[in-house]
Amino acid sequence: MSVIPSASAVHHTADALRRHDPEIADVLLGEARRQADSLQLSAAENFASAAVLAALGSPLANKYAEGYPGARHHGGCELADAAERIAVTRATGLFGAEHANVQPHSGSSAVLAAYAALLRPGDTVLALGLPYGGHLTHGARVNFSGRWFRFVGYGVDPETGLVDYEQVRTLARAHRPKAVVCGSIAHPRHLDHAAFREIADDVGAYLIADEAHPMGLVAGGAAPSPVPYADIVCATTHKVLRGPRGGMLLCGRDLAERVDRAVFPFSQGGAQMHVIAAKAVAFGEAAAPAFTGYAHRVVANARTLADALAAEGLDITTGGTDTHLITADPAPLGLDGRAARARLAAAGLVLETCGLPHGTRRGLRLGTAAVTTQGMGEDEMRAVARLAGAALTGDEHRLGVLREEVRDLAGEFPPYTA
Ligand SMILES: *Cc1c(COP(=O)(O)O)cnc(C)c1O
Repeated sequence: MSVIPSASAVHHTADALRRHDPEIADVLLGEARRQADSLQLSAAENFASAAVLAALGSPLANKYAEGYPGARHHGGCELADAAERIAVTRATGLFGAEHANVQPHSGSSAVLAAYAALLRPGDTVLALGLPYGGHLTHGARVNFSGRWFRFVGYGVDPETGLVDYEQVRTLARAHRPKAVVCGSIAHPRHLDHAAFREIADDVGAYLIADEAHPMGLVAGGAAPSPVPYADIVCATTHKVLRGPRGGMLLCGRDLAERVDRAVFPFSQGGAQMHVIAAKAVAFGEAAAPAFTGYAHRVVANARTLADALAAEGLDITTGGTDTHLITADPAPLGLDGRAARARLAAAGLVLETCGLPHGTRRGLRLGTAAVTTQGMGEDEMRAVARLAGAALTGDEHRLGVLREEVRDLAGEFPPYTA
């Protein structure tokens, strides 16, 4: 089974749409072109396979299916049930978990459900502070998490950028949280799940692992699994895992019913059955041997890219990476994160800014999942770093020339081939 979608399948759908709605067809074709002729270095993005896109575009999108297989509030759910049972069986098999819930509409919905399963409004939760790479759902004031729970933030060491487990323990003992959350949008290193488990046990707290980013590496055996340690694991299916946009939850048998009820009926209505079918496809792809090679190449590419960016003068947080994700401070080049992102975007290198361990400056966050899915290797990562270095240090009027070089490089690795 090829993981690379076929261009003819994509174009066939586009032709039908063009006849029916040329205005939106132009938008979709333009976006397909943008994805193919620039480089998607956003750490959270990837290219889902043709099979995943086919499931997303299937008539299962029409089906209402509130509830769970065998216990739905709607008729005609036999095949929807089959799709969800396959997705759940593949997810539990892939990650070695006793129970999986594949209904969360997004990573944030998965985290909401995990909190709903274990916490009451007003409870104290210990999580990585937002300035250090905590997600919105880890206590942002503008998010349900910050509104409904009392979040205490731990940080990272300002020098090393690594999680300070002694600080986590001290804060846990001082604040007696009901849950400890590990997981981040920007931390490039493996977390010590056993250490988090031990700290949570020490204060009688639940451990929630929000593995939205590295779950695809876990699936491919390129990152340690949180499943043996966390009470609940939250994840997305669209990041390194390369499935459809969506979320998932894993837990032990003991929490299965609470987790399921926290998703439906507590925080969601009808499941998106086409997305669940697409998740099943992605879990199937991730269980194939080729995915292990992909996951390890993602990490090898990230390490090479981090080293090459350091050689261009960027200050790489933690000195490197264990994962797909790199964060870097462009300050040595005389730029802040926002100015750097704008220059890189003008050259066709698409990525985002992020917080940095040591202060209020913004840095750059990038990842290698999408470019690895396209087939790029370590030579291309060195070329990307060279292009990035030129974009960040050269005259701004040279950016147009670099844009053409990026277009040429991207053109050699079409994300969707026939
Ligand atoms: C991406 C991410 C989420 C949220 O996922 P969405 O699908 O965007 O809601 C939650 N937590 C972490 C750590 C993430 O990286």
